Amino acid sequence: MSDGNHINIAQNQAPERTSIQFVIDPRSVERVSRGSAIKGAVAFFLSLPVLALSAMSILADALGILSYFNVESKILAYVLMAVAMVGIILCNSKRKMATASIPPDQARFIDGRWVERDDSGDYLLYRNSAPCNYENCQGTVRIQLPPPREQHNHDLIGVCDLGGKQHTYRVDFNGVGERQHFDWRPLEQNKP
Ligand SMILES: [Zn+2]
Repeated sequence: MSDGNHINIAQNQAPERTSIQFVIDPRSVERVSRGSAIKGAVAFFLSLPVLALSAMSILADALGILSYFNVESKILAYVLMAVAMVGIILCNSKRKMATASIPPDQARFIDGRWVERDDSGDYLLYRNSAPCNYENCQGTVRIQLPPPREQHNHDLIGVCDLGGKQHTYRVDFNGVGERQHFDWRPLEQNKP
């Protein structure tokens, strides 16, 4: 009986599918109001001169140019630099959204997420994902930018969160992923 079962299972196996279909991951959907995106962009651009000034004061102090720099202003410079860096990091995505031109009914890929605009000008963010179809893999394939050596051939690729560089897909314009391996070596390995 066990032998018969074994043969049955082997015969019933469907031919291995190599393509996957990307769909919007409902847990990833997020709405960002137009005002919030603009505020983020403003905070980003205000943080830049604060970062530059505080970094320059710290450097000038270290070089002995600002000899009147006391301990309080040194602490203040470090605090301002830290706040500005956090502001730049936190607001960079909103800055990219607010400064990107996103035509109606089109989506732009910004920082790992698709960004669309609705009629009111608000932003709709989401990720596309698909279950990995490599054998026995329970991973989720997410879309990301290709490695440097593949950028001339691919705008975006799919990478499995469990299989990593071994479970990769090329991504079609219609949201279909087809298994493909990529060259992950960095660009500067051209030397003999
Ligand atoms: Zn996988």
